Amino acid sequence: MNQPVLIIGAGPVGMITALFLDRLGVPSLLIEKRKQLPDIPRAIHLDSEIINILKLVGLDDFITNQIYPSKGLFLFGKNTNKKFLQANLNFNNECSSFLFDQNHLEQELLREIEKSINISLKYNCEFISAYNQKAELAVQGQVIDQSFSYLIGTDGANSKVADVSGIKYTEYPYRKINYKVDFITDQPPNYQNRIEKFCSTNGSFVRMAFKDRVRVEITNNPNGEAEYSIKLIEKLAQTRVKKVLHADKYYFNTRIANKWIVDRTIIAGDAAHTMPPYIGEGLCNGIRDAFNLSWKVAFCYYNGHHDFLIKSYSKERKNNVKKYIGLTLLTGFLFTTSLRYILKPFELLGIPLKINQKPVKKGKSDLIIPKFDLLANVATVGREWDYMRHLYNSFTIITSEDLSKGAIKEITRLFTPFNVNFYSPEDKIAQSVLRILKIKKVKSVIIRPDLSVLFSGILNEASRIKIQNTFKKEIIS
Ligand SMILES: Cc1cc2nc3c(=O)[nH]c(=O)nc-3n(C[C@H](O)[C@H](O)[C@H](O)COP(=O)(O)OP(=O)(O)OC[C@H]3O[C@@H](n4cnc5c(N)ncnc54)[C@H](O)[C@@H]3O)c2cc1C
Repeated sequence: MNQPVLIIGAGPVGMITALFLDRLGVPSLLIEKRKQLPDIPRAIHLDSEIINILKLVGLDDFITNQIYPSKGLFLFGKNTNKKFLQANLNFNNECSSFLFDQNHLEQELLREIEKSINISLKYNCEFISAYNQKAELAVQGQVIDQSFSYLIGTDGANSKVADVSGIKYTEYPYRKINYKVDFITDQPPNYQNRIEKFCSTNGSFVRMAFKDRVRVEITNNPNGEAEYSIKLIEKLAQTRVKKVLHADKYYFNTRIANKWIVDRTIIAGDAAHTMPPYIGEGLCNGIRDAFNLSWKVAFCYYNGHHDFLIKSYSKERKNNVKKYIGLTLLTGFLFTTSLRYILKPFELLGIPLKINQKPVKKGKSDLIIPKFDLLANVATVGREWDYMRHLYNSFTIITSEDLSKGAIKEITRLFTPFNVNFYSPEDKIAQSVLRILKIKKVKSVIIRPDLSVLFSGILNEASRIKIQNTFKKEIIS
């Protein structure tokens, strides 16, 4: 008889994987090092694809009673308090965004697992290592051996499974600290069932509410302020804090595993990828992993190992996750732009720009990594491309540089999927924008839709010639 599938980590992704396998009749042993479910509010947003996946697992009660369709995403300039964009979260007349509590989802998954005869769940059981389809597990101070047909590591961001399998990660250096507060209120705010983001370079913040719950997230640059008072939270949330459920500081890293499969060991969820919560897609992607992987493991469990089929999991999922990481980073730095993290389209071309706004560290921006074409990823992501177009429809570029048609074409390409409007400083619209932004001398200014300046740069003569030559070459070939 086949050995069970061993799943390490009873977080949401491990539990959903076990349930999918159960629905296909495959026995699994799900082990968890904690004593019980955690009680910390984390994910709060799910997209509609995930709701459909949860329906397939049979979480009907959860879907009926515990999710709240989001009425939209609203973007404000933090300093002006003016709404500059309202994102429609309906696609093809279907709501695409839902608010929920990760704890409620985990409780519901646990109830389903307890009903299953195929899943054996062990708390207080820690994975130590694995070799040759045998794992070492620590249970109450003793080490026991456990054979498996497949080992699935859903053991979160500091995955031991990945570690002992020699899996390495590609890191995307976009690091932020978020201070997050979840609280109960008795005064439902006027942004009930929606998400509001206040964009700013210095301390952007997000607020959202559903039922009697409110979440406020304040973004800081690393080394920023560490703690906030209830008074400030009430001011930002525009409502009364009745009871704080949880408040903490989070450091968000962004990375993706280079390998997702080593022999019969496979990783999924946060063990395979992490990203900041700017579009609430970390868990969503873990659930997509579970959905993609479980039927393939079930097929191999019954019919013998098919390398090609199992490898198709990482091929399909990795590309998709990369696109979500791209979308997350782009969204994140548009909300929280600082010169350190700024998108410098010219820099993408390897052309140095002199920044005249604030001193900037020498060397390249740490956001742009040569091998990861952020914009290209966003542009090809399909439905999310539409989503971004709902969020940001245009950038304005005011430049006194005499840009050639080729340069304009290339900048437009780099800013895909946004429309880019070019203005000369003599133009009436440009003049009023410059007045609002108190910019006197213009060389090149890029402005995002809420009128925050992305950067104001001066191209020196050598750079200008280099750009023109680059474009000339492209145009001639
Ligand atoms: C503040 C915050 C807000 C977020 N908001 C969103 C959002 O709105 N939408 C969204 O989609 N995502 C969001 N996320 C991300 C989401 O919470 C995670 O992606 C999700 O929890 C990952 O699930 P997982 O099962 O892969 O890992 P985890 O939830 O980390 O579970 C891993 C489990 O493995 C166990 N484990 C670890 N090592 C071992 C071992 N050696 N042996 C046995 N067990 C082990 C751990 O104890 C843990 O229970 C947010 C995260 C945070 C922190």
